[in-house]
Amino acid sequence: MTKLLYLQDFVKIGCEGTVVSVTQAEGCDIVVLDQTVFYPQGGGQPYDTGMIESASGTFRVDEVRFVDGDVRHIGALETGKLEAGDAVICRVDQERRTLHAWLHSAGHLVDRAIAELHLPWTPGKGYHFPNGPYDEYEGSLEGIDKEKLKSDLETLCNKYIAEGGKTEVIFMTREEMRKTCRYTPDFPAEKGELARVVVHGGFYMPCGGTPVADMAEIGRVTIRKIKQEGKNVRVGYDVGQ
Ligand SMILES: [Zn+2]
Repeated sequence: MTKLLYLQDFVKIGCEGTVVSVTQAEGCDIVVLDQTVFYPQGGGQPYDTGMIESASGTFRVDEVRFVDGDVRHIGALETGKLEAGDAVICRVDQERRTLHAWLHSAGHLVDRAIAELHLPWTPGKGYHFPNGPYDEYEGSLEGIDKEKLKSDLETLCNKYIAEGGKTEVIFMTREEMRKTCRYTPDFPAEKGELARVVVHGGFYMPCGGTPVADMAEIGRVTIRKIKQEGKNVRVGYDVGQ
C-alpha cells in the first residue's frame, strides 16, 4: 500500500520515498514507492507526470495509476538504475499539476454555484481534463433559461474567486459527511474508513483530488456550454483569462 501524501498535503509537489518494487509491463517500467506525492488518475482528474531520482538513477514518470492500493509510476529509466530499497526524491511537473488543480477546483466552484442557485440536480461525475472540462448532474433543463443560467453561474464562480479563501481538507465519518455535504457519493470504502472532504468558503465537497490552496489562484472561470445529455445536464467550463 502506497501512502498517498497528496491526500493531506495537496499542494506539495516533491517528497522523499523508498522504492518498494521495480517491474516491467508492456515495454514500460513500473515503480512503486512506500509513499508519493504523484497523483494517479481518478475522480475526473488526470495523472501527474515528473521525475523520480535516486543517487544511482533517474526515472521519468509518464503516467501514474492507482492499482490495488499501490500507486504505479509508469515510465522509463533515463539514467543509471533504480532498485527496491533505494531512497528517492519525487518531483512532480509543476505546470501540469497547477493546471489540473485549477480545473479540478473550478469544478468545485461550479458545484457551489449550482447549490447556491438551488438547482434540484444531483451531482454526478466530473471531467476536469484540459480538453473540455465539465461537471455532470442528474437533472433537467426544462423551463430553464440556459443563457441566464450560464451568466448566473459564471458570475457566482468569479465572485468566489474574487473572494478567495484557503482550501481546507478534512477527514470525517460518512455520518458527518451526510450532514455537511450537499451530496454524499457511494463509496466502495471499508466500514469505518474516514472520507475526505474539501472545504472552501463554507462549502463542503467530497473530494479525492488535488485542489488549489486558494480559490483566488484560478483567476477566472468561464461557463462554456450547458446542455442536456439524456437524463443528465452537463455544465462545461474553462479556466484562465
Ligand atoms: Zn475535488
